[in-house]
Amino acid sequence: MLNEFGLIKQYFDRPAPDGYLGVGDDCALFTPTPGWQLASSVDLLIEGQHFFPDVDPFLLGHKALAVNLSDLGAMGARPRACLLALSLPSVQPDWLRAFSQGMFQLAEQACCPLIGGDTTRSPQGVVISITVLGEVRPGQALLRSAAQPGDDIWLTGTLGAADIALRLLQGRLPADTQRLAQCRPALEQPWPPYRFGHALAGLAHAAIDVSDGLAQDLGHIAAASCCAAHLEWDALPLSPGLAGLPQDLCRQAALVGGDVFQLCFTAAAGQRDSILELARHHQVQLSRIGSMQVGQGVYVRDAQGLQPAPVQGGFDHFGA
Ligand code: ADP
Ligand code: MG
Repeated sequence: MLNEFGLIKQYFDRPAPDGYLGVGDDCALFTPTPGWQLASSVDLLIEGQHFFPDVDPFLLGHKALAVNLSDLGAMGARPRACLLALSLPSVQPDWLRAFSQGMFQLAEQACCPLIGGDTTRSPQGVVISITVLGEVRPGQALLRSAAQPGDDIWLTGTLGAADIALRLLQGRLPADTQRLAQCRPALEQPWPPYRFGHALAGLAHAAIDVSDGLAQDLGHIAAASCCAAHLEWDALPLSPGLAGLPQDLCRQAALVGGDVFQLCFTAAAGQRDSILELARHHQVQLSRIGSMQVGQGVYVRDAQGLQPAPVQGGFDHFGA
């Protein structure tokens, strides 16, 4: 049986890139790019609450890092390094191998080396917390408070698939193997557009990654920017996995469903061409889904007119 140090050495100790002091000392070291600001974020994933106990550990390792890269992208920052705090009920070599492979594969793609962490035992189940460190040029971070009336609202990727997959897995929708197969990757292996997010720094105004539902997350931009957000229902990019579902369910999945890990951002209408060109360059699917207005709150315009967006059921850990 591996002890704590053997476990770290076997699964999490990879050679650090040049210029980094990685796993093995009391702290990791690297030199920030001179003049850039440090961007940092941490997320916590708890077994049974954020992931199913039997989820594929390779995909879990991917997602644990992906949700953090999503935060960096939403700030306009580029990844520099990450740290992993891991709590396990027991040492399961196959699980650890797959988990670390999933995480390292994305870490390598993102140039976000794992430089340290902490490992403990937790009888209650697996707990994963990744901290990411990134950097952004001063004055270029995409703040939630930076939207202006008249801005376009943009969204990468599509909406609703992760929510439908979750409903199917939880038995809240009748079993549908084909639809589950179509929607499940969105839930279990999200690919946030973190490089595109960094490329938007200095070009876009406000940004947020959609983790708790579009209406709720866009509501954070609206509130922080003292504006209203008007969404056009017809412009929302629904996932093909929603085809054939009742309209009410599509609306709920698209506007309230969480775990999207796509980027919602605002930018001046004069930047439309540059933004579309940038999305093409990064091979990111991009939709213009509405505009910021004077006022407050989030609204959706459809055939019936302009109505407040549903936020009921948007994810809130401490919600009733
Ligand atoms: P400390 O006693 O300072 O907390 P540890 O003995 O916990 O140090 O860790 C030894 C080294 O291994 C440190 O460099 C730490 O950052 C690293 N480490 C521990 N757990 C992990 C992990 N899950 N992933 C990556 N590095 C880890
Ligand atoms: Mg420690």
